[in-house]
Amino acid sequence: VNTRTPLIAGNWKLNLDHLQAIAFVQKLAWSLSDAKHDPSTVEVAVFPPFTDIRSVQTLVAADKLPIAYGAQDVSEHESGAYTGEISATFLRALECGYVIVGHSERRTLHNETDEQIAGKVAAAVAQNVVPVICVGETSDDLEKHGPSAVPVAQLKVALSKISSTADIVVAYEPVWAIGSGQAATPEQAENVAAALREVIRETLGDDVAQKTRILYGGSVKANNIAGFMREPNVDGALVGGASLDLNEFSSIVRYQK
Ligand code: PEP
Repeated sequence: VNTRTPLIAGNWKLNLDHLQAIAFVQKLAWSLSDAKHDPSTVEVAVFPPFTDIRSVQTLVAADKLPIAYGAQDVSEHESGAYTGEISATFLRALECGYVIVGHSERRTLHNETDEQIAGKVAAAVAQNVVPVICVGETSDDLEKHGPSAVPVAQLKVALSKISSTADIVVAYEPVWAIGSGQAATPEQAENVAAALREVIRETLGDDVAQKTRILYGGSVKANNIAGFMREPNVDGALVGGASLDLNEFSSIVRYQK
């Protein structure tokens, strides 16, 4: 039995401007409150675009909403001549609890390397913004190397610049399952999550391994979330498409009911 609080995280990607974000978060809060949501049993987080974060911060703080939030990316640099980048210090100033690092879309579309991702993880940790470190294999990787080799290798590098006290979240997101409607099976997710927890144990020690939440991501919906949550090493979900549908997302949060 573990003491990890499950985390249901919604990655909005390039969707919802700051006005739409305010409306969405407000409605999500109403829906959670109608459902008598208890944040000590399941933590809920949203990851809006950068330009929404100040608005989300203001709303969450004013109404003391039980909703955490974070950014979808962060620079590995602190400041300087890096046009278009956002630092972890800026995210901390907006009271972001989390930041997604190394999402497969960043790795593929922006050629982010494992080394760069390790730098981003370290930059986030240094500012007490918890990195949600995404790892996962493509279907090619799966055929060539099996299920856990690539995510394990990615996580080893991602953790290489932080110390054993670090507060982190890991998301196992098989690339073939993202946005495809083809989720992994709970067993597949569990096997890789267990291998990833072993990497955390070897790198950061047993305490961090025990307390770190490992999420599954890839076509999570209201009708498949419960199966993942029954697995001992899966502590929540990173949800893309379904996080933009209020009813679907709040049903995912209420997976126990
Ligand atoms: C994601 O992009 O992190 C993701 C899991 O997307 P989807 O839920 O749409 O597969």
